[in-house]
Amino acid sequence: MPAELALLPVDDAPGCPKHMEYGPCGGVESDGRCEVAEHPCVFLDLPTVPWHGLIGAAEAPDAVAHLSAPDPVPAPVASSGSARMRTLLATSQIVVADFPAAALSADSIAECGAVLAGHVDAVLAGDSGAARVQFPPAYRAALIQATGLEVWTGLNCRDRNRVALEGELAALAQLGVAGIHSVTGDHTLTGSRPDAAPVFDLDSTELAALASRSGLLVSVAEAPASPPVDRRPARLLQKERAGAELCFVNHAGGASPVRSFIEAARALGSTMGFIPCIPVVIDRGSAELLQSFTTLVLPPGYLEGILAAADARAAGIAAAVELGREFLGIDGVVGVNLSGGAGPGRALEFAEALAEIGRRIRNDGDDGAPG
Ligand code: SF4
Repeated sequence: MPAELALLPVDDAPGCPKHMEYGPCGGVESDGRCEVAEHPCVFLDLPTVPWHGLIGAAEAPDAVAHLSAPDPVPAPVASSGSARMRTLLATSQIVVADFPAAALSADSIAECGAVLAGHVDAVLAGDSGAARVQFPPAYRAALIQATGLEVWTGLNCRDRNRVALEGELAALAQLGVAGIHSVTGDHTLTGSRPDAAPVFDLDSTELAALASRSGLLVSVAEAPASPPVDRRPARLLQKERAGAELCFVNHAGGASPVRSFIEAARALGSTMGFIPCIPVVIDRGSAELLQSFTTLVLPPGYLEGILAAADARAAGIAAAVELGREFLGIDGVVGVNLSGGAGPGRALEFAEALAEIGRRIRNDGDDGAPG
């Protein structure tokens, strides 16, 4: 390693496989073990790391300033979609849906988009443990937008370094996406591509700051049920200070844990809007996919009740609608996210179920048959 590079600021926690500075990630096991390493999460015994900014080219220490001239970073382009989404959020609660299209298939994106357009307010095009290789985020977003949907792009820090993420953010802002969902990302040792090198140049808090600087509406995730449970609201507050405006609340076991989490965040001074995740299951394949989510906690009996029903699809849709209505009644909740994914080869059927759930939640009281 050149001597100059050894001087670069590296202050992430020693021993964290994701090199996180603002940990812990949401993947801490319920017994405190690391998501991927055979030791406890290294953040459990540390105080919550306060947001203290992101060192960029302009702020780089003199010791490395000679390595290159600062990048000519233009003023951010305000995202038209983010402006639309902020306006919508100011007047109504929203329904977002995970986008279920098959990876690397423009045809599947077009089909699923056509089914969902008009029935949800945006789709979250994020990470998938079952298909780590996806179209580049901005290209994927452009394909989805072409179907008439607003896109909320999930960006993770696993697959791209800071420079690559900055390029994606610039493209996504130009494209006018509704929002950026900033996550650190599961480690490559989980999911379908353990052969790939993990990057983790930044973490979710730092990426949220970059995205916010790019003029985008920024959301982050928090996992209320992951250790250290009592300090999750404090960690969220640091993400808010970095620039996040909204929090997608990971599956935490139902309405009561979500309400408690929001109240705890509010008590610390958070003014964020919250979007709890609704687990969507319509068959065994989608149940298996949901169960692959790290630190999944479902309402008691939720999955079992759906899978035991004579018509699992109908039961899964009804359960999601009911839970969605409960979530939307919680103070601080600005929307819900229909969360999950399709079993193999079932993307279109899953999209149809998401569309029906979205339609029924948005038209509260409409429990009629699928249109
Ligand atoms: S659980 Fe996450 S934050 Fe904690 S040490 Fe492991 S990778 Fe790092």
